[in-house]
Amino acid sequence: MRLLVLCFMCLVSVLIKAPHAVAKGTVSSPPKVLVTIKPIHSLVAGIMEGVGEPELLMEADSSAHTHHLKPSEASKLHKAQVIIWVGPIYEAALKKSLDAVKNSVQLITVTGLKGVHLLPSRAFHRAVDGGCVVDLHSCHNSHADQEDHHEIPGKDGHLWLAAPNAKIIVKAIAQELAQLDQRNAPRYLANSQKIIKKLNELHADLVSEMKSAKGAKYLTFHDFTQYFDIAYGTQCIGAVRINPEVEPSAADLQVVRHQAKEGARAIFSEPQFDTKSVRTIAEDTGLNYAQLDALGFGLDKGPNLYFEMMRRLAYEMRKAFTEEECILPLVCKR
Ligand SMILES: [Zn+2]
Repeated sequence: MRLLVLCFMCLVSVLIKAPHAVAKGTVSSPPKVLVTIKPIHSLVAGIMEGVGEPELLMEADSSAHTHHLKPSEASKLHKAQVIIWVGPIYEAALKKSLDAVKNSVQLITVTGLKGVHLLPSRAFHRAVDGGCVVDLHSCHNSHADQEDHHEIPGKDGHLWLAAPNAKIIVKAIAQELAQLDQRNAPRYLANSQKIIKKLNELHADLVSEMKSAKGAKYLTFHDFTQYFDIAYGTQCIGAVRINPEVEPSAADLQVVRHQAKEGARAIFSEPQFDTKSVRTIAEDTGLNYAQLDALGFGLDKGPNLYFEMMRRLAYEMRKAFTEEECILPLVCKR
């Protein structure tokens, strides 16, 4: 009997020490929160201010679409109690790693949060036929099915790039954290109110920053600005790469050169990609060129990053549209 009691106690102590014995739904107060990308991490850091600091999974120097975890990053997944990611339509390469831990963590998927409305991925014209840019969806469907929409199943996952969407994200994540960690719920909810007020101010600033760029057409390296365009009145009319990880073909580049003549005023690359092709197109077509950053590249992580990143992005964009040294006089009219 004494042996039986001893064995039972051993079993209990093993269960207590086992790293993943914590049942799903049980989190410490404050919980160990891990966020995949910098802009969302920034919003979560604001919600948790005064309670704890969330961990960041990925720096902004690689593409989250295809980022494969380093061993140091994978170990962060195992230490977390709550993991907040954008979702499989944006971070497809993380799905497998998250599937492996999903039974021992609380997984919060931003694209699935209450109030989030996802837009379909944009379908740009992708072929040149007799000197005109035509829509692949109407003329070369098999090719379009293969190459369009890197963000399968056809929804655009870059939803944080508009302050109104950030408000929805902040409100929903604060509610989720408040439910998981009820002791700190008042703090999460009060912080979220403060961030929402700051996001209202940011939105007003961006609307006024982009006023002079209303309707301005442009090209990007890969399509990530749809939510920004809708919120602030700009218009992306084409992307060099449909899949950001696949080199553009000669035909793709031909399409973009045609699009450059369809009223585009600038072409933008992104710091996490090798964008020699964008510079070459800018030089060939005379379009203004700038880098736009949607991930907080070079910015210190934390509650202010989201606001700095959005202001910098809007400024870079507006400046590219209104710079004097534009070579194509007809498309540069302000
Ligand atoms: Zn993307």
